[in-house]
Amino acid sequence: MPEIVSLGEILVEIMRTERDLPLDRRGTFAGPFPSGAPAIYIDQVAKLGASAGFIGVCGDDDFGRLVEGRLREDGVDTSCVRFAEGYTTGCAFVAYSSDGSRNFIFHLPHSAAGLLGPEDVKEDYFVGTKLLHIMGSALSVSEHSRQACYRAVRITKELGGLVSLDPNLRPELISPERIRKICEPVLKVADLVLPSGEEVSALTGIPDPEEACRKLAREGKIVGLKLGARGSKIFSPDLEIMVPSVEVREVDPTGAGDCWDAGFTVAYLEGRSLEECARFANVVGALSVTELGPMEGSPSREEVEKLLRSMGN
Ligand code: ATP
Ligand code: MG
Repeated sequence: MPEIVSLGEILVEIMRTERDLPLDRRGTFAGPFPSGAPAIYIDQVAKLGASAGFIGVCGDDDFGRLVEGRLREDGVDTSCVRFAEGYTTGCAFVAYSSDGSRNFIFHLPHSAAGLLGPEDVKEDYFVGTKLLHIMGSALSVSEHSRQACYRAVRITKELGGLVSLDPNLRPELISPERIRKICEPVLKVADLVLPSGEEVSALTGIPDPEEACRKLAREGKIVGLKLGARGSKIFSPDLEIMVPSVEVREVDPTGAGDCWDAGFTVAYLEGRSLEECARFANVVGALSVTELGPMEGSPSREEVEKLLRSMGN
């Protein structure tokens, strides 16, 4: 049974090859690239050599086989990935602008991804789970998917495992009140919270992200605040530390936060100090942005260790 489990949306990403070409214009696309925040996360966990399992639903089509196949080849246990007959795999069309912003069209709630439900979450699967990672996106795909996540959290906690939460919901797409409401049952019991700035503000209602992180740390949680190219800042009940990232050439930032989560949780379960966890996660996140496609840059354990060694760690 896997030690690190995640669940949620499986999708493919199809992206503009040219920048600044909006999605309402004719043009060319590249892809399909395997994607979906929880899938990117668990794939990175496996690439770091940890024991990983995933629960999700894809369509009985080539896009579904592409994503499931990638996870499996990278070492993720996909025995709980279901192929739903009569449904198509989720997909996202993405256009990039030169200012770094991204524009998406999602086919998700009405795709196979929206079918994930509590019945997909089998208690037996969690017997060896040391950590369950929940993504806010999986809480917002559909009511079914949300209930599946809540059930996984309940089971993990009952069996004594840890829960980590990355709210990864953008306040410009979904209201802060809604983010708070759907994340609340997970946040209440989460041991680790791994947000970026505007997300932790939405989650807590505290406008200053660092103050928001301190509040969660005072409640006993470990908080990893992701700060893009600058690195990350860690808050715990008895420590606050800024850990700078490494310099890389950014090609595609999509998925950096998910890969960072994977690095942090894998290192945490290995018993490393919080500073070491952040340094390790920063390198994973940094390497992940050096290739086009959400999962394509996900580094192997060897690549991460090599870069860490070259930095004198
Ligand atoms: P997303 O939601 O798009 O996956 P995010 O906003 O959750 O991203 P980021 O803060 O962009 O996450 O990235 C996660 C981590 O990866 C950062 O905290 C940093 O350590 C590392 N990282 C990301 N981009 C870069 C970069 N350009 N250079 C160096 N490190 C980076
Ligand atoms: Mg994020």
